[in-house]
Amino acid sequence: MIRLAAGLLLVLLAAGQAAAADGPVPVRIAVLAFRGAENALNRWSPTADYLSARVPGHRFQILPLSLEQMGPALAGGGVDFVLTNTGNYVALEGSHGISRIATMRSPAKVEAGNVFGAVIFARRDRADIRALGDLKGKSFMGVQHDGFGGFQMAWRELKEAGIDPFTDFSSVTFSGFPQDEVAFAVRDGRVDAGTFRTGTLENMDLEGRIDMDIFRILAPKSYSGFPFLVSTRLYPEWPFAKLRRTDPELAQAVAIALLSMPADDPAAVAGNYGGWTVPLDYQPVHDLFRELRIGPYEHLGEITIGELVRQWGHWGLVILVILVGSLVWAATTERLVARRTRELSAANLELERQIAARLRAEGQARRRRAELSHMHRVSTMGEMASGLAHELNQPLAAIGNYARGGLRRLRGGGGTSDQIAEALERIAAQGDRAAAIIKRIRGMVRKDAPVRAPVPVSQVVREVAELMRAEAERQKADIELDLDDDLPQVTGDVVQVEQVLLNLIRNGLDAVSTVSAGVRRVTVRGRRAPDGGAVISVADNGPGLPDGAPGAVFDPFFTTKERGLGLGLSISQSIVQSHGGRLTARNGRPGAVFEFTLPPVPPAPEQDAEGRGNGES
Ligand code: ADP
Repeated sequence: MIRLAAGLLLVLLAAGQAAAADGPVPVRIAVLAFRGAENALNRWSPTADYLSARVPGHRFQILPLSLEQMGPALAGGGVDFVLTNTGNYVALEGSHGISRIATMRSPAKVEAGNVFGAVIFARRDRADIRALGDLKGKSFMGVQHDGFGGFQMAWRELKEAGIDPFTDFSSVTFSGFPQDEVAFAVRDGRVDAGTFRTGTLENMDLEGRIDMDIFRILAPKSYSGFPFLVSTRLYPEWPFAKLRRTDPELAQAVAIALLSMPADDPAAVAGNYGGWTVPLDYQPVHDLFRELRIGPYEHLGEITIGELVRQWGHWGLVILVILVGSLVWAATTERLVARRTRELSAANLELERQIAARLRAEGQARRRRAELSHMHRVSTMGEMASGLAHELNQPLAAIGNYARGGLRRLRGGGGTSDQIAEALERIAAQGDRAAAIIKRIRGMVRKDAPVRAPVPVSQVVREVAELMRAEAERQKADIELDLDDDLPQVTGDVVQVEQVLLNLIRNGLDAVSTVSAGVRRVTVRGRRAPDGGAVISVADNGPGLPDGAPGAVFDPFFTTKERGLGLGLSISQSIVQSHGGRLTARNGRPGAVFEFTLPPVPPAPEQDAEGRGNGES
């Protein structure tokens, strides 16, 4: 049936387009054919002809459509105007943007104006049905489920009375057209009550097809000027509507033609209406739809979980998946982070424990080294005591000599004050020399914690050589110095550096003491290292490192000397290493060469870099 009607629609559209090529412009009016296409064509073609006659250059055609065909036809683009029932108009207004240009008037013979309603009725002899509330559990008949006057108007009133037709009635049936069948079904007791549009009962009665007195009107209303029995609110009649794309001038011409149609025009008579009036307010229809949640308000219903799932289910699923994914991810990450944190803090604790143990051990080792080193210095000084005594003896003897010479001159009365002053100056100078020797010895035996400070290498080498002078003389050996002019300062502990030099020079002197012929010589060289530090070597012309064990000389307690301790080189090596340098031993030609490095003074912050640089050069 639908397919047949669609075919007809296509044929009509094609015919319209063919006609457009020559002759008047075809204008198509889609008409709701609730009683079939033929009925609609019969009813409305005179109206189309009326318009063709009033709007020059246009040929109006009727396009009979079912409710279902309306939407697609309007979307298709072959339709210019729409003539449909009030309910369908409001639905299309929302979905297809059509707008009314005139409202139909009810047929002139019943003087109903341009509004209509519905009547709800039962047999008067049914004592059990007097009000809408009595209809619960009863059977009910309307014209069409989608019928505006034929069901929806009554539905609204029933709903307001607390009755849901689809759950509270024992049955709901629809007669279809002709709607007269509803009245017959109620009359014959096939249903308990029924509804159809206002005026129908009066028409049937007028035509003698039924006696309307046998019916009781439920929830009767009265509206001034409205002549029919009515149970519902009143709503505007069918509108004549244009589409959004309809030419505005054409729409205006059509509206003027419709409004000027006399109530008794043959077109109105054929269409069973009473002409046209200005478009009415269709808001009450919207209200009905909204209340019943149908038509354009179908999806306005309470938001149930089911509807949500139906409408937004796919997004919900996506969000759910993302949410669950995020939760799982967050939980996994958190667990992982917690585990890693535990592992890390355990590792940290272990690390801290190890660091503390190592620091303790290092501290202990440092203290032992310092004690050992101090002990060794003291013992070295002890061993050098006779040499040092000799060293001190020289200035003391000189002081004695100068003092006695001065006294002699004073007593003999021969000395001038200048000569006396000169003697005193020499005494003072020798006193200073003795004090310097004492100071160096005290420095060597003092027991201070090592400190790191800039050490002037040249000066330290000279002072140690001075300290060893008596010893060297005793051994009949020379201490030669060969120092670069630009020998830099190094970083270190001055006493420790002195100790290393002392050990190496003493070993050198010991080694050359075995040389029977020729010069006995110990040479101290100082060179600037490529990294800015210093390389110091102590070479001798003795017999060289012990055969077969040149590397063993650094082992603690390794000694080839009768009264040796075997600690000097081991202590020197650890001192040099603790300064970040290296102490090595090799054979020279002849003798042995001991060489060690000391690190440069680290670059100072800018403000005093200049001062130190000047001091050095
Ligand atoms: P000690 O001098 O008490 O023996 P050292 O640790 O200073 O202790 O020296 C260890 C050994 O290294 C010496 O006994 C000696 O055999 C060897 N040695 C050190 N310096 C020299 C040197 N300049 N020439 C040859 N042998 C040396």
